[in-house]
Order: sequence, then C-alpha cells, then structure tokens
Amino acid sequence: MANDRLEEVCSNPPMPKENQKSVRCDLCSKPLVAENVFVKEGKRFCCVAAAAQYLSSNKTLEDFHGRDKKRKFVQAIKKVVILSILAAIAYGGYQYWSQNKDKVREAGQELREKAKDLENSVNERSDE
Ligand SMILES: [Zn+2]
Repeated sequence: MANDRLEEVCSNPPMPKENQKSVRCDLCSKPLVAENVFVKEGKRFCCVAAAAQYLSSNKTLEDFHGRDKKRKFVQAIKKVVILSILAAIAYGGYQYWSQNKDKVREAGQELREKAKDLENSVNERSDE
C-alpha cells in the first residue's frame, strides 16, 4: 500500500499551532512548521527520507514517460513504414493497371463470361 510506504518515510513532525504559519510536505501533505521543513529542489518535505522517496519516484515517472515517448515514436515509424508499403503496392497496382488496361479488361470480360456460363449451367440444371 502506498500509504504504508508514506508512513515509513515520513516522520511525525510536531503539529503547527493554530497561530503558527505552516506549509505542507510535498510527499505526505502533513502540515509542517517552518523550522521542521526540509527543502530539496524547490520542494518541501517533512524529512530527508521523504525528499529522497519523492525525488526518486519522480525520476521513475520521468523514465516511464521517456520510455512511453520512445514506444510511441517506434509505433509511429511502424505506421509510416506500413503506409508506405501499402502506397507502393497501390501505386504498383495502378501502374500495372494503366499499362495493361486491355489485358485487365480482357481478364474481367473473361471472368464475366465464365460467371455467365456458370449461371446458365446452374439455371439449365434447375430447369430440368
Ligand atoms: Zn512527509
């Protein structure tokens, strides 16, 4: 549990009195009086251990975001590669079609005739 971990590192600083100015620990949010604040890298903590944990988990988070960015970048590259391959295939197909329009048309015509023959033979059989 995250809370158990916080209890481990965060000391129990004396509660500020009502008329005392207080700040909160950036890790555990406990109220702190000025003389008990431990400042590190512009953050305020109740103790050195809290600062260490906060800054190390922050670094872990940054590492994670860095890896996430890298992963997304790789995915984007993969997408671009796949799209270029598809574009190349489409372009090649178009080139083939435009250079062999007659052949493609003939093949289509042949297919239509075969389909018609098939349809006719099926109809003839069902007529019998
Ligand atoms: Zn704390």
